[in-house]
Amino acid sequence: VPEDADKLETEAETEEQSAPSKTADAEEEPEKTPEQPRPSYREMLSHPVGLIVNVRMLRRVVQILFFVAINAYFLAAWSWGGQIIGLMQSIRNILPAWPIIAPAEGTAAMLVGSFDLFVREFTSAAFPFFTLGSMIIVLVVFGRSACGWMCPIGTIQDFATLPHRTKVRPAPSTETELRRVKAYIFIIVMFLAVWVGLSKLAGTSDAVTRALGPFAVAAFDPFSPAYILFVALPSIISRGLWPTGLDNLWYVLQWGWFLPELIFVIVIVVISFWFPRLFCRWLCPAGWIYGIFSKDALIGIGRNPAKCTPDTCNDCEVACPMNIRIRKYPYQHMHSPDCIMCLECKSHCKRRAITIRFG
Ligand code: SF4
Ligand code: SF4
Repeated sequence: VPEDADKLETEAETEEQSAPSKTADAEEEPEKTPEQPRPSYREMLSHPVGLIVNVRMLRRVVQILFFVAINAYFLAAWSWGGQIIGLMQSIRNILPAWPIIAPAEGTAAMLVGSFDLFVREFTSAAFPFFTLGSMIIVLVVFGRSACGWMCPIGTIQDFATLPHRTKVRPAPSTETELRRVKAYIFIIVMFLAVWVGLSKLAGTSDAVTRALGPFAVAAFDPFSPAYILFVALPSIISRGLWPTGLDNLWYVLQWGWFLPELIFVIVIVVISFWFPRLFCRWLCPAGWIYGIFSKDALIGIGRNPAKCTPDTCNDCEVACPMNIRIRKYPYQHMHSPDCIMCLECKSHCKRRAITIRFG
């Protein structure tokens, strides 16, 4: 269903989605305010603080900065690159892990992902007290803001979606089924990690490691776009296996696992063109566990009942890259495990009804 068609929802769906809202706010039936036109980019930029006020642009800038902070191996080609990368790695050693996906072996990274780290710790037969503790604190306070503003894989998908405006939104029941896939992936990854960890304690890890092959070190790595792009790809380049012309195209035959992994990432990016945040919505096991702890986060999204007109407008839902049925939630606070606090809904609401809620 293309984006424009989203506005033409069926009566049944509209009733289903707006029903809770009506119940929640029946007593305080508000007087609706007229639609307030949003300022254009040109108008915002003509003002000195336009860059800051424009939250969409601010998020893009922050995303790019964190993308570089998590993945700066291209600096290695620069004469000062070695020192900068060394500085980044020493900063990473003192910072806690963040609820994103960023591999612990990143060649030039200032941040490591909580999920990547605790999977490795379980695999090493260690219980990740500190990693889980810091992850839960961040998620309970800020929700999944790190997914919306910091995660490099979220950034890649957001930028893939930018040039093309036609988005596909599956039916709610299909979306619900597909969202379960990431939970199944999480269970499989944790099972393998704990299995390898226990085998180390039992002294049988050699056989288990042989049986699991590339899944024995950190079970999600072979399918983690972050690991594939920020660890496996630099490794291929540094070993001189990246083809630079037709005459050495045959290098790809030496890539082994990396070839299907790279194809997997390319497919994710291409599909993200039409399905925003496809990987986050359906496949990311880290996003699933982060969602559990961020559902009741102190910072979240709400709607002003005096301005929101859920029966005649669904601009926020059309804009939401996580395909959340925003109008289904109470006005006061939208407790969705899938909200990444990207604020796209807020930017696209012509009535300025979306608010950031605390507590
Ligand atoms: S859900 Fe998306 S943004 Fe969040 S950790 Fe996973 S890939 Fe990153
Ligand atoms: S509800 Fe709003 S802030 Fe949350 S993911 Fe959707 S667009 Fe972003």
